[in-house]
Amino acid sequence: MDLMYSSTRNDKVKFTASQAILKGLADDGGLFVPESIPALDVSIEELADMNYKETAYAVMSKFFTDFTEEELKNCIEKAYDSKFDTEEIAPLVDADGAYYLELFHGPTIAFKDMALSILPHLLITSARKNNVKNDIVILTATSGDTGKAALAGFADVEGTKIIVFYPKNGVSPIQEKQMVTQKGDNTFVVGINGNFDQAQTGVKKMFNDTALEAELDAAGYQFSSANSINIGRLIPQVAYYVYAYAKLYKNGVIAKDEKINVVVPTGNFGNILAAFYAKNMGLPIAKLICASNENKVLFDFFSSGTYDKNRDFILTSSPSMDILISSNLERLIYRIAGNDVAKNTKLMSDLASEGRYAITDEMRAGLVDFYGNYTSEAETAAVIRKLYEDTGYVIDTHTAVAAGVYNKYKTETGDTETKTVIASTASPFKFTRSVMNAIDTKYDAMSDFELVDELSKIGNVAVPQAIEDIRNAKVLHDTVCEVEEMPQVVKKFLGV
Ligand SMILES: *Cc1c(COP(=O)(O)O)cnc(C)c1O
Repeated sequence: MDLMYSSTRNDKVKFTASQAILKGLADDGGLFVPESIPALDVSIEELADMNYKETAYAVMSKFFTDFTEEELKNCIEKAYDSKFDTEEIAPLVDADGAYYLELFHGPTIAFKDMALSILPHLLITSARKNNVKNDIVILTATSGDTGKAALAGFADVEGTKIIVFYPKNGVSPIQEKQMVTQKGDNTFVVGINGNFDQAQTGVKKMFNDTALEAELDAAGYQFSSANSINIGRLIPQVAYYVYAYAKLYKNGVIAKDEKINVVVPTGNFGNILAAFYAKNMGLPIAKLICASNENKVLFDFFSSGTYDKNRDFILTSSPSMDILISSNLERLIYRIAGNDVAKNTKLMSDLASEGRYAITDEMRAGLVDFYGNYTSEAETAAVIRKLYEDTGYVIDTHTAVAAGVYNKYKTETGDTETKTVIASTASPFKFTRSVMNAIDTKYDAMSDFELVDELSKIGNVAVPQAIEDIRNAKVLHDTVCEVEEMPQVVKKFLGV
C-alpha cells in the first residue's frame, strides 16, 4: 500500500507522493503532509556503513512509495554526484564541542542544494509517471539561497522553465550576482521592489489563481513549486540528519540509541521540520533547537504560543532567515492540532486576516521537543569571531545564529552533555563581507572579491568553484518589477 498525502486544510482528497510533488501546494492553499510518518526500519549498524546516497534511498523510499526502486535510485544518482565538492556530500566537522554538519558542499554553496539538486529529477519522474503533457513552470520566491539552488537544479532540464523572484534590496551581493548570471534558456530571474514575504505571498497567489491556471494550461504550461513547501524538497532533507547520526555512531562519538540535539538556523521552518520528521521516524533526537535571527517571530511563538507577524521586518546579516511567515510551520501546527484540518484552517485564516494566531495549551504541549531562541546581530558577529579565534574554523552568519542559540540553550538548561549537531547551512564564502567584518572591521575597506581571497587565506580553505564561477560572469537577467506586477511578468516570459 502506498503512503498517501493530503492537504493540511482538507484530508478527504488523497494524493500519491508523485502527485503531491507535481502539485507543490494543494489547491486549497494547504501543504501536503504524509498520512503518517513512516518508521526508519533500518538498524544503526546498517546505517553506519551506508554512504550518502544509500542513506538517502533508505529514507526517501519510505516516503515516496509510488516511485519504483529504479526511479528513485536514478534520481539520487543524478543529484548527489560530482556537483558536490566532497564525496561525503555532508561532512561533519568537530569544533568547540559541537558537530557542524556542513550542508554547503553543493553547486551553490548553501544547504538548499541538498534538496534542490534532486527535486528537478523527482519532478520530471513524477510528470512522466502521471502522464503530464504540459511543460512544468517552477515559480519560486527566494530570500537568496533557494533561488540560485533552484536555478542551478532546473537550468536546461527539458520540459521545465523556472522563474525566480527575489527581494531586490534584500539579498547579499554575492547571492544576487549568483542569480543574475544564471545561464540556461529556461531560466528567468526577477528582482521585486518588496521583501521576501511579499515575494512569497505573490507566488502563492499565482498558485491559487484558477483563471491564470486555465490560461497557462491552454498554452501547455502548469505551475509547480521549488519552495520548501514542496514535499519533494522536505523529504530529501530528512536524509542528512539520519546520515549525521549514523556517522556519529560509526565514529564512536555516541553509543547505540544515544540521543543527540540538533540546532537549526531557521527561516521558513523547512530544515528543522525535516529534523522533526527524522525524529518521528525513530532517529534518537532529544531537542530540536530552533534558532532565529532578530526576526524572532518563531522564538516568540515558542515562548508565548502566539504567532504574530505584525512587526517590523529587519534586514540582517543572515538574509536567508529574514522571514516573518514561516510557511512550513503549518505542517507542525496541523500535527499538534491532532491532524485536525478545521483547527489548522482556522489558524491559517487568522494569520491571513489578522497576521496572528494563538494556539491552545493542549497544542503547546505538542511542542515539547522544541527549544527556541534567537541571536542578535552583535552576538552573531561575536560568535563568528570567537570560534575563529579559538579554533581557526570560519562559519557563515546563518550558522553563527545557530551556534549563538546553542550557547544560550546550554546556559539556560545546563544541558552541556548531549552531543549536538549544528546544521551549517551556508559556506562563509557566500556571506564574505559580514563574516570578515565580524572577524575584524579592518576588512571593511576591501572589495567583495578581495575579501573572498582573504577569507581563503585566513580560513585555510580553497575558494569554492561557485564563487570562481561568478567572478567574471556576465549579468544575464535585469528585470525588476513591483509586487503587483508579478503575474504579468510571468505571462510575458511564457508568451501567454
Ligand atoms: C534557507 C536557509 C535557511 C533557513 O532554512 P529554512 O528551511 O527556510 O528554515 C538557513 N540558512 C541558510 C543559509 C539558508 O539558505
